[in-house]
Amino acid sequence: MRNMIINNEKCILCEKCIESCPFFAIQKNGDRLTIGEDCSACGQCREVCPAGAIKMGESKKEAVNKEEWKHILVYIEYRHEKVHPITYQLIGKASELAASSDDDVCGIVIGKNTALAKNQLKHYPLKKVFLYETEEHFKADLYEKLFSNCIDKMKPSVVLMGGTAEGRSLAPRAATAFRTGLTADCTELILRDNRELVQIRPAFGGNIMAQIVTPDTRPQFATVRYNVMKPIEPDCEHETEFIAEAVEGAYSKLTILEAVPRPERKGIAQQEILVVAGKGVKKKEDLAMLEELAVLLGGELASTRGVVEKGWVASDKQIGLSGQTVRPKLLIACGVSGSVQFMAGMSGADNIIAINTDADAKIFHIAHYPVCGDLYEIVPELIKGIKHSVRDGIHLA
Ligand SMILES: Cc1cc2nc3c(=O)[nH]c(=O)nc-3n(C[C@H](O)[C@H](O)[C@H](O)COP(=O)(O)OP(=O)(O)OC[C@H]3O[C@@H](n4cnc5c(N)ncnc54)[C@H](O)[C@@H]3O)c2cc1C
Ligand code: SF4
Ligand code: SF4
Repeated sequence: MRNMIINNEKCILCEKCIESCPFFAIQKNGDRLTIGEDCSACGQCREVCPAGAIKMGESKKEAVNKEEWKHILVYIEYRHEKVHPITYQLIGKASELAASSDDDVCGIVIGKNTALAKNQLKHYPLKKVFLYETEEHFKADLYEKLFSNCIDKMKPSVVLMGGTAEGRSLAPRAATAFRTGLTADCTELILRDNRELVQIRPAFGGNIMAQIVTPDTRPQFATVRYNVMKPIEPDCEHETEFIAEAVEGAYSKLTILEAVPRPERKGIAQQEILVVAGKGVKKKEDLAMLEELAVLLGGELASTRGVVEKGWVASDKQIGLSGQTVRPKLLIACGVSGSVQFMAGMSGADNIIAINTDADAKIFHIAHYPVCGDLYEIVPELIKGIKHSVRDGIHLA
């Protein structure tokens, strides 16, 4: 599958390709250059070569015997001895898919002190979990080698990963290593009887839901947006087999000089209660009223993109396709029309109250409690009611 070719006759030994290669895959031996197996065929070296000495070889499509590829592998993100919460969303979806295909769901953990992940995983339906012990920091090149080693051995038909920073960095590398397809940021996944994974995600600005398949190659890689899938609840202790794995001589070419931890902050994706401001809010000052409601309920203010574009709130408060996906217990949408792009980020909320003056507003199609009316009348009434309840000692559950 590695198919960059250097024509040493044409090469003028300027070494520009060596400097440009992000994978340090080009070596110089005397007056000849060779491309090593770390090459991902990104083509960067070809772009910079002044002598036209590098070309991409014919890509030979190797026939894959799809019958050999079975089961579902979940990439379990593990940092500072903690399993990332998206894992439980992935295991939930993987279990649903596996139920129809008679496949097993397995996991892979790469990181430091991976044995400590066992306690966090034993209450979930995983057949096997492969533990690859390495250093704490995520290093894409090393992780790709370990991950690929696991995939080579297990031959999963489907690989699910979180659409997190780590997942987004690792998934394309692994998919490239196997010369197979990857669909990023899926919002729904369906497994056909022949184990073909239908990967569904919004496309063209959310105007269509694209259904993508990987018909000829395996595995089928998909990343899933955080909070789009419902997390699986822990149940009894499962008889998961935890297998310590190692890859001899695996190393990273990256050196991390310093890691500065980001201060932990609860964002809108972690909130249980959200009050959302839409463009039905007339002035920036009026957001204070919605913020007051949010605080009284113990939640946070969020918004549509329309309000972010006005510069009234920071972009990390935006819900939707180009913002965050949220799954709160309660979401109160105030003056929000309910565009497809907005609803793509919040339709998983447990309870949706929508306040809108337009009885035909699309948000009412998904609202559990549609309130047709003026937010400038309803929100102050809600605030007053909550304050009275608090004063009277009524607990707001
Ligand atoms: C590629 C792309 C990505 C996008 N991503 C996102 C995204 O991530 N998130 C997002 O939100 N949008 C996104 N959008 C924009 C999206 O299409 C809509 O324009 C946006 O969601 C509309 O925001 P809104 O509901 O606040 O405003 P509007 O659609 O203008 O709706 C305002 C609503 O307020 C109601 N209203 C007015 N006055 C009152 C009142 N006094 N009381 C009660 N109701 C009142 C109106 O009836 C109306 O329904 C994206 C667009 C594109 C093209
Ligand atoms: S194709 Fe990319 S990875 Fe391969 S040698 Fe060239 S620059 Fe390096
Ligand atoms: S960039 Fe081209 S000419 Fe320069 S060393 Fe690499 S292959 Fe040779």
